[in-house]
Amino acid sequence: MSKKAKLIVISGPSGVGKTTICNEIVARRKDVVYSISATSRRIRKGEINGREYFFLTEKEFKRWIAEDKFAEYAIVHGNYYGTPREFLEENLKKGFNVLMDIDVQGAKKLMPLYPDGIYIFVLPPDFEELKKRLIKRNTDDEKEIENRLQTARAELQYMKDYKYVVKNINLDDTIAEILKIIDTETQ
Ligand code: 5GP
Repeated sequence: MSKKAKLIVISGPSGVGKTTICNEIVARRKDVVYSISATSRRIRKGEINGREYFFLTEKEFKRWIAEDKFAEYAIVHGNYYGTPREFLEENLKKGFNVLMDIDVQGAKKLMPLYPDGIYIFVLPPDFEELKKRLIKRNTDDEKEIENRLQTARAELQYMKDYKYVVKNINLDDTIAEILKIIDTETQ
């Protein structure tokens, strides 16, 4: 386990490769645990409650908010998403680095609370490529893809707040670069 347990935040547009990046980091680093978010969005084919997300109804999500169960939460693409507080705090206390895939609004809320966190923004090579990846992923309809591309363009203005910006041209290189960042930051 690392001496200085840190938050590792990965943000970036939908389809940029964040899920694969996070899975690889967890597989390769025993000192990193992944924070599973809660969401009110519909469950997609192939997803399992408690694996990709904790899927809540909007009513349940609002109850969690009222009970202060989130370290941060935000509305992204019209749905609620939030980081469960207890898992995050418990694991940091135990000395694990806690990795999460959250949007720019959530990251902005955590930055002042965890100033020594590792904040990484992953950029697509370009927007045409991102659109192709979203279509290939086949999880969203055309309207949803447009919605996600629009959010992605808007999110770019928050990129400057991140300590690290990594352009994902080649996934293996990107993962290697992020692992190197984590090595340096947790030494
Ligand atoms: P998706 O619906 O494609 O799984 O995720 C949509 C967006 O929600 C992604 O950009 C992801 O980073 C963001 N997201 C996932 N979990 C959280 C969370 O707990 N908090 C915030 N603020 N954003 C999240």
